[in-house]
Amino acid sequence: MSWQRVFGHQRQQEMFANAVRRERLGHAYLFAGPQGVGKKLFALELAQTLLCEQSDSTQFEACGDCSGCRQVLSSTHPDLMQVSLPEGKTELPIDLFVGAADKRGREGLCHELSLSPMHGGHRIAIIDDAEKMNIASGNSLLKTLEEPGPGAVLILLAIDPDQVIQTIRSRCQSVFFGTLEPADITGILHQQGIAANEALIEQAVQRSGGSVGKAIRWLQQSEEQGNIDTDVLAKIFCRGRFRAEELARVGEAILGQYKSDPGSQREAAKSIVENCLSWLHQAITKSEVNVIQQDAWADAMEQCFEAILQIDRRATVTTVLDAFYHDLEINLRPTWN
Ligand SMILES: [Zn+2]
Repeated sequence: MSWQRVFGHQRQQEMFANAVRRERLGHAYLFAGPQGVGKKLFALELAQTLLCEQSDSTQFEACGDCSGCRQVLSSTHPDLMQVSLPEGKTELPIDLFVGAADKRGREGLCHELSLSPMHGGHRIAIIDDAEKMNIASGNSLLKTLEEPGPGAVLILLAIDPDQVIQTIRSRCQSVFFGTLEPADITGILHQQGIAANEALIEQAVQRSGGSVGKAIRWLQQSEEQGNIDTDVLAKIFCRGRFRAEELARVGEAILGQYKSDPGSQREAAKSIVENCLSWLHQAITKSEVNVIQQDAWADAMEQCFEAILQIDRRATVTTVLDAFYHDLEINLRPTWN
């Protein structure tokens, strides 16, 4: 079942399959290419394939089920090490490679890589953000690159290989990863269960520039844009007076972002009503309203369902929303008198 989660990069897969088959696997690779195209996933899949206990060199496929595979998938395999830029840091510190000052040479990635494999034939290190290595970190890695331990495989990941220290870069085989095809990005979004409608996914793919990371970020942003802030909702449904005109204003601003895209506009309209619905639901369950109000608010929730139904039936969204704001106002007004 291996390699199914890697979309695209077929040429690179074949290259590694051949290298493994011919027992010509190198000991240091630099994976270079744009952000969010799957370099790290590829590196992890390669590591799993090499550490799988059921796989041999002719298959180049991990079983996904042996203890080696499971340990790779849960990031607990003793023969797989990973380092990346620590939170809040701008460089990969030397400690990651050779241990802290009082434990120099006895800890860190270089020490780990010098040991013999615990389980199989390989000991693998994935170094993310390789362009963030400073001179000291780079120097500490040189010896490992020149005299790797038994079965050691280093995989460095970088967006811009020219930013990787030259002495490191020249000791690695460069493997370039291009941008992804639209169909691959769509496939990844579906595989990851990214809950967006097809129109939104299509737009995200169009704006992704071949990077699934970018597509996901765009989807997250557009989702946020369709959402009304809780504070704003509290103001709109403020005790004492429902502010229909304020809801209309907020709604208009949201829909305005999708003028040229009716599909997304419909989704945004639905999201506006859903926001109101969940706010009303919360207010009722928190018993923030008295009994008379509760009836009116329950009716208001019915109006939300009705509006969602209308939107789903492809009625004109602005007409549905205008009627929705108006109905809410009529319904909620008497409860405060
Ligand atoms: Zn396996």
